[in-house]
Amino acid sequence: MSKKTPITVAYGDGIGPEIMKATLQILEAAGAELDIDEIEIGEKVYLKGNTAGIEPSSWDSLRRNRIFLKAPITTPQGGGFKSLNVTIRKTLGLYANVRPCISYSPYITTKHPKMDLVIIRENEEDLYAGIEHQQTDEVTQCLKLISRPGCEKIVRYAFEYARAYGRKKVTCLVKDNIMKLTDGLFHQVFNEIAAEYPDIEHDHWIVDIGAARVADTPEIFDVIVTLNLYGDIISDIAAQITGSVGLAGSANIGDGIAMFEAIHGSAPPIAGQNVANPSGLLLGAIQMLVYIGQSKVAEKVHNAWLRTIEDGVHTADIYCEATSTQQVTTSEFAEAVIKRIGQAPEKFKVVSYDSDNAIKLQEVKTRKMKKEIVGVDIFLQWSEKSGEKRPAILGDALAKCEAEGLKLKMITNRGLKVYPDGFPETFCTDHWRCRFQKIDETPVSNADIIQLMQVVDKAGFDIIKTENLCTFDGKISYSLGQGQ
Ligand code: NAD
Repeated sequence: MSKKTPITVAYGDGIGPEIMKATLQILEAAGAELDIDEIEIGEKVYLKGNTAGIEPSSWDSLRRNRIFLKAPITTPQGGGFKSLNVTIRKTLGLYANVRPCISYSPYITTKHPKMDLVIIRENEEDLYAGIEHQQTDEVTQCLKLISRPGCEKIVRYAFEYARAYGRKKVTCLVKDNIMKLTDGLFHQVFNEIAAEYPDIEHDHWIVDIGAARVADTPEIFDVIVTLNLYGDIISDIAAQITGSVGLAGSANIGDGIAMFEAIHGSAPPIAGQNVANPSGLLLGAIQMLVYIGQSKVAEKVHNAWLRTIEDGVHTADIYCEATSTQQVTTSEFAEAVIKRIGQAPEKFKVVSYDSDNAIKLQEVKTRKMKKEIVGVDIFLQWSEKSGEKRPAILGDALAKCEAEGLKLKMITNRGLKVYPDGFPETFCTDHWRCRFQKIDETPVSNADIIQLMQVVDKAGFDIIKTENLCTFDGKISYSLGQGQ
């Protein structure tokens, strides 16, 4: 007797329950050996007053079973509700989000018939750290955090994925021409790790033109590895241009723990109407079957699904008179797939999964660097004066604030240097970054910085935050102002 794999399942919100029911029916009919533990997450839990959207007992189920099949959920707007998707991905360390986007031409209408790419999105860091502050009357801030271990894990995962699934090329998409430290770190790690995989081609594009090429000529890409926000946006574009956002599934992979879902949301306007396409969640579930070692069942489901698609049995989102034979509801689509279990596609390539598709990463090593503090950026809210001379008025006042040899070096407003030698045309908000360093830029201590802050505070300025300026292994590790 075969042993069932325990998994946690959440039916979610909106179209979630309909597409989950359809997916589980198909898995069962194909002989998936699953022992299902159902949990409730999302809107109902949020609206009971739990701002996390998940009960403690549900965490127990997730940590016990370590495999999660999740339907989309609705995050209520406003009211301090945290995105549960982001919370689950980060709490469980699901660092890699794997999103295959494939076109099924000519059976599903698309302008991109040769598209077959996989987006591997970093899943835990970037602007999704969710650390935001209103700092002044006029300025809000969101922190972008990129770590070396985070980059190493996701980039290595992308190359290992390419090897395991017979893909030829990995492309890095980031914006390191602007964000030289954060996106620059990702690109640097990409180059380092690419050198360890000479059997796989690699290249790099700046994300804006890279995204444009995804939308225009997606067939030039194979595996794309990118940061969290870019990956989120590009994968929706990529899924949509295959024919429908309802066609893409995704795996969220951690160390010995994983979550599988559709890439789309809960689609409230079509909820409860039995019209949603369950394919995204089904393709996510197929990735789950491969992950838990039920590759043969995964093959059966995938091939039956391909056969259904090429037979022209389509839900409303992909229905097209020219290419479809029948428009079906969610439940009818599930029945059509079930009817075809055991059949192979006749036009599409038959899918086969190896049992060695599993990806195991080596442990990321921690690194120690020699750090020295060489100054401080003190951020101020200041709006006392008006007119084009404001930067000079502020600069002259701050030039009198000095402690332990730390002196004002420059002031920027929204990242642009406005003192000394600003332009009258430059628009300034009430948010000023004031850089203090020793004349010879030699190291300082935190105690020196605290003394300087006391001087600035006594002079009547409103300090909103500070950032230490550091060198790591002797290398300047902060962005310079224009002309610095
Ligand atoms: P959405 O993906 O729910 O819908 C976007 C569009 O695609 C809509 O027109 C919708 O009808 C259509 N669509 C989506 N899935 C479909 C399917 N399976 N079949 C047919 N059509 C489909 O995005 P949204 O409207 O921006 O978000 C709605 C809610 O979903 C929000 O509360 C959002 O926070 C949430 N959301 C959840 C997840 C998740 O749980 N992983 C992901 C994204 C958005």
